Amino acid sequence: MPKSPQSHLDPRQPLVVDTTKLPRQPGATRALSRVVPAPADLGLELISVPEGSDLELDLSMTSVSEGVYISGAVRGSLSGECGRCLNEIGTSFEVSIAELFAYEDSTTEETTDDDEVGRMQGDLLDLEPAIRDAIVLTLPTNPLCRPDCPGLCPECGVHFDDLPADHSHEDVDPRWAALRNLTAESPEAAAPQQEQYSKE
Ligand SMILES: [Zn+2]
Ligand SMILES: [Zn+2]
Repeated sequence: MPKSPQSHLDPRQPLVVDTTKLPRQPGATRALSRVVPAPADLGLELISVPEGSDLELDLSMTSVSEGVYISGAVRGSLSGECGRCLNEIGTSFEVSIAELFAYEDSTTEETTDDDEVGRMQGDLLDLEPAIRDAIVLTLPTNPLCRPDCPGLCPECGVHFDDLPADHSHEDVDPRWAALRNLTAESPEAAAPQQEQYSKE
């Protein structure tokens, strides 16, 4: 399989990690603790990590024979909209990361696809795809402000929390409601209108 062209990693990017200080002897380990601004579009349509909010990396890097293994936790905040009532949701998350980044020209790099195993570029590796995958996998596609959110009345759009328990709309179509009021208030006035209807 031809190798897909990779853009060069920029060490100034907050989620690009420079492993220069990690000795390349298998077993060598270093902590990777930092707080970085969250990249854009980290999440789903209804709930995501606000761009630029704090993303706390609490990871360790370990040298293995074929590359660098990154594991630990990533924490941050989420904001979104309840899928039932559209109220704002603000919450936090923690996801686990466990990802191998293969050295350039290692057997692992040559025998795997780059969507299976991460790739190093020299001493650099990019954590963003792994963090993105971990976060997106844990997010609900239909987030709720609370598990038993009753949502909005489909007729009037008011939150069921703010409506009496027996709230209902008998007349779905406002034209029928108008007609009924007319009939009830003045039967004579309603008569010609009903004739009109029947002629159409
Ligand atoms: Zn809700
Ligand atoms: Zn209603």
